[in-house]
Amino acid sequence: MARQKPVYTRVLIKLSGESLLGRHSYGIDLDRALAIAQEIKEVRELGIQVAIMIGGGNIFRGIRGTEAGMDRAAADQMGLLATVINGIALQEALEKVGIVCRHVSAMEIKALAEPFIRRRVIRHLEKDRVVVFSAGIGSPYFTTDTAAALRALEIKAEVIMKATKVDGVYSADPMLDKNAKKFASIRYLQVIQKGLKVMDSTAISLCKDNHVPIVVFNLNKRGNIRRAVLGEKVGTLVH
Ligand code: UDP
Repeated sequence: MARQKPVYTRVLIKLSGESLLGRHSYGIDLDRALAIAQEIKEVRELGIQVAIMIGGGNIFRGIRGTEAGMDRAAADQMGLLATVINGIALQEALEKVGIVCRHVSAMEIKALAEPFIRRRVIRHLEKDRVVVFSAGIGSPYFTTDTAAALRALEIKAEVIMKATKVDGVYSADPMLDKNAKKFASIRYLQVIQKGLKVMDSTAISLCKDNHVPIVVFNLNKRGNIRRAVLGEKVGTLVH
């Protein structure tokens, strides 16, 4: 059988902090991290350059701090640190399955992650290293979705692959509404106008203005990342 050819050469995968929860309700399930790493390896083996933006919601979100009366900027800094913890775990898992990986933090934490230097990151990718981005864009009031969109532009990724718990973008929450309809593809503007929960509106606007497509797919179905990069119909295409 002829080897399938990927449709992308460089992708940015957005993994939420929740994707690392696995069997736990808080923190990191290292087996889950290893399983994700294994799937990333399969994508790498197709010759695709991979960067990952990791979230922090499994540990801390700024909103939790503000609800408890914290200053938003301070609470978001805690959220940013949560993403760095996840970045360390993900790098560890990727290395365990044999991937050469660089962890790049947008906040300077020299002892454990590289600073973000755009050309250096591109060089890592060209040398087939997987790059894990943490600390979002390094500033409060943003999300790792927006950071994913920004970094995708900076490193010239052809697509953002947004990993979720559901099969794509639906007209309503499929966990709550059994009549929710899944879109095969949808326009950026519709996502914003309908208020669909794909990524936050800053992230969608950035993708829209700069024509970066987003594939929203279910990470809990094994092989989905590989199928998506091979151009198979997986999830929903936002374009
Ligand atoms: N955060 C931030 N600036 C950024 C990215 C993230 O302040 O550029 C903070 C924010 O408090 C957020 C937390 O980090 O709640 C974790 O990120 P996010 O909620 O995007 O993680 P995910 O939902 O993907 O797990």
